[in-house]
Formats: sequence, C-alpha cells, structure tokens
Amino acid sequence: MVRTPLRLAFAVSLFALSAFAPLAPPAQAQDVDILRRSVDELAAAINDEVVAWRRDIHANPELGMQEFRTAGLVAEHLESLGIEVETGVGGTGVVGVLRGGRPGPVVALRADMDGLPVTEMADVPFASRVTTQWQGREVGVMHACGHDNHVAILMGVASVLASMRETLPGTVKFLFQPAEEGPGGAAPMIADGALEDPRPDAVFGLHVFPMPVGTVAYRTGGMLASSDALRIVVRGIQTHGAMPWAGVDPIVTASQIVVGLQSIVSRQVDLTDSPAIVTIGQIEGGNRGNIIPDTVLMIGTIRTLNPDTRTLVHERVRRLVENVAEANGAEAEVTINLGYPVTVNDPALTTRMVPSLQRVAGEGVVVMPPATGAEDFSYFAEEVPGMFIGLGVGADDPSLVHPNHSPFFYADERALPIGVRALASLTVDFLSSNPISDDR
Ligand SMILES: [Zn+2]
Ligand SMILES: [Zn+2]
Repeated sequence: MVRTPLRLAFAVSLFALSAFAPLAPPAQAQDVDILRRSVDELAAAINDEVVAWRRDIHANPELGMQEFRTAGLVAEHLESLGIEVETGVGGTGVVGVLRGGRPGPVVALRADMDGLPVTEMADVPFASRVTTQWQGREVGVMHACGHDNHVAILMGVASVLASMRETLPGTVKFLFQPAEEGPGGAAPMIADGALEDPRPDAVFGLHVFPMPVGTVAYRTGGMLASSDALRIVVRGIQTHGAMPWAGVDPIVTASQIVVGLQSIVSRQVDLTDSPAIVTIGQIEGGNRGNIIPDTVLMIGTIRTLNPDTRTLVHERVRRLVENVAEANGAEAEVTINLGYPVTVNDPALTTRMVPSLQRVAGEGVVVMPPATGAEDFSYFAEEVPGMFIGLGVGADDPSLVHPNHSPFFYADERALPIGVRALASLTVDFLSSNPISDDR
C-alpha cells in the first residue's frame, strides 16, 4: 500500500497543522463521510424509480441471451446519465464506464439480467404473462430467481454514482450480464474484453435470497459451489441373466461404483475444511430381468466449495470408477463437464469491506453458510478480487416466502434501497480507501 507523494505531503501538512489547531479528522475521512451521506440521500431519492424499473422488468422477463428489451433499457438509462456504454458484449451484455472527477482505482459492479422458463404464480399486479417455446413446449417466463431486482438495483446505483461523479475518486464499471441461469454470460463477456480497459481492481455483485428484509449476507472464501456434470459409461459383456459367468455384468459394477463414489466425500475429503457433494441422479441399463446388458449409463453432479477440493474430487472420481470397473473385468469411461467454478469471496477484500455493509444494514449483516447452488459471478471473481453478497428479500408474511426458482418467488421491495446503498457504499468505500497504483 503505497501512497502517492501528493497524498503523503497532504497528510504531513495536516499533521503539522494539528499541532496548532484543534484535532480534526483527516480530510480524506471527511471526504468519505460526504460520499457516504450522498449515497444514502441519493438512494432514497431514486427509490421510486428503482421500484418502477423493477416492476417493468419483472413484467417483461427474457430468457438467457435473449435479454434484448432489458439490455435496451439498461443501455438507454446509462447513456442518459452520461456513462460510456458498450452493448452486445458477450451476447446481450452491456458494459458502462463512469469516470469519476478524481483519480483512483476501478470498481466493477455486476448484475445478471435473465429470467427462467417458469410460469409465474405469484400474486402481484406486475406478474409476468410472458410465454415462450422451451424444449418444444409453451411455458411461461419469470424472474423466478429475482434478477429483475439485481438489474433495477444496479441501474439505481448508476444514478446515485453518476450524480456524485465530480467527487468520485476513481472509475466504476457496470457489468450487466446475460444468461446466468445458463449457458452463462460472464465467461463470454470476459472473452469479449469486459474486464479490460480499464481493468477493475475489485468486483462486487449481489443476489436476492428469501432471507428476511434487512439481511445482508456475506461469506469469506467459498460462498457458492462449483457445479460440474458427471457422466459415467460402464461397459461389460452381455450375457444371459442365468449365466452371468459367461459375460461381465455392468449392472453389478455400476452398483459398486455408486456406493464407492459416496466414500469419496465421506472418507477422502477433509470435511472440516470444505464440504462436497457427489450425486448420481440417473442410471440407465438393461431392459429385461433375465438379460445382463452390455452397458450402463450413469449421470450425476459434483459440487464443491473450494477449488482445491474440486480438483481432488474429480481425480478421486476417475480413480475410483476406473479401478472398480477394472476389478470387475469391465471398462468405464468418466466424463466431467466443467460448469461454473466455485464463487470465492477474496478473503482480504471481504474482511476489508464488511464494515461498509455494517454501516448500511447494521445488525442485519450476517455470515452466510456455504450454499451448494452455483453462480457465474465466479468467473469475474477468478479474474479480479471479488465479493458477492446476499440481499434478503423475504417478506414478513411467511406465506409469501418461497425459494429462488419457485413459481411463487416473491421479493419484498423494501429491500431495493438496501441493495442500492450496499453496492454504492462498497464502491465509494473501496475507491476512497485505495492507494492509486502507478500504472493509472
Ligand atoms: Zn437462479
Ligand atoms: Zn440467480
């Protein structure tokens, strides 16, 4: 942490002054206080608009990589604020760059824009009536994961920070990404240069969860899981069910593999360090009781909360499957298709930023247990230090509280200004407390 000579000189002169004048907080701390007060006032002033955006986006959800209307709204809004905008990034992604009036680091803020093929059952006046063709059937489209809130919150944050542009010490990059629910929009945006020119020093994002309104949740390290698809084909030799010795039975081999896989998590992973999951959810083999088939197909999922555990589990799955097959005289082929990596909150960044969240949400700030869902925010956080937080949108009435992806998913809008203040506060606090690096 190297201060620029100018700031050092300023600090020294303040110190000299303080020998003669009553002690006052350093100028930099006063600046941060002014920025924080501005965030709170501007977030309150923009709230009606944030609510209106959220309802409009909620009523008009779009599936991944089809977020044309949503991306259009976002781009138009950012342009109206005088923010540099690039559209069509990694598909339908939108990148905005807001350059503050004072030098400083670069913060990126991310929101995902896509809805899900779910027919809305929530009883709200702005419920989605949109339908689409999905896997050959007509289904509803709904913001059942609450990404409408993420978009509206980040549009509100853009308004807040653009209003403070002259006093903002650094640059803010807005990342509105497509297709978080699949096939993924973060990786294509990164491939399209979303994290270059300027390169962020940190990235923040949030997700709404059905925790009580007022809750802001964080976790140091692995917060959301990696999600990898597992496919195993066991090949034996077909024979009559009454003469198994004449062939190699892939059903018995597959059974031993299913049981053996469970010992990887229970016997080979350090569960005090990080949990893991290996699930086989589908088995296909044979079509008659007295015929031993030649192959069995098994499909499953692997979830981990630590990149090292992820590598270890993959190795052990391959070792176990191949060796159990060999012990039975069969052959097995293991395919692991990599999904989203572990969402890791950078420990140093997280520790440093928790006080910002506490200023916004007080005792509502809680440590979140690790969750076995996955998020492609993880790709951004692999590139630059990242921090992903949970925002409680659960209503007081328990009959309105449903998990993400439910057709009844309901977000209490009292959470919206908390989300705007949380992301805007993380931004101004990070920008204000960071030394300016020499290459900027
Ligand atoms: Zn989701
Ligand atoms: Zn989501």
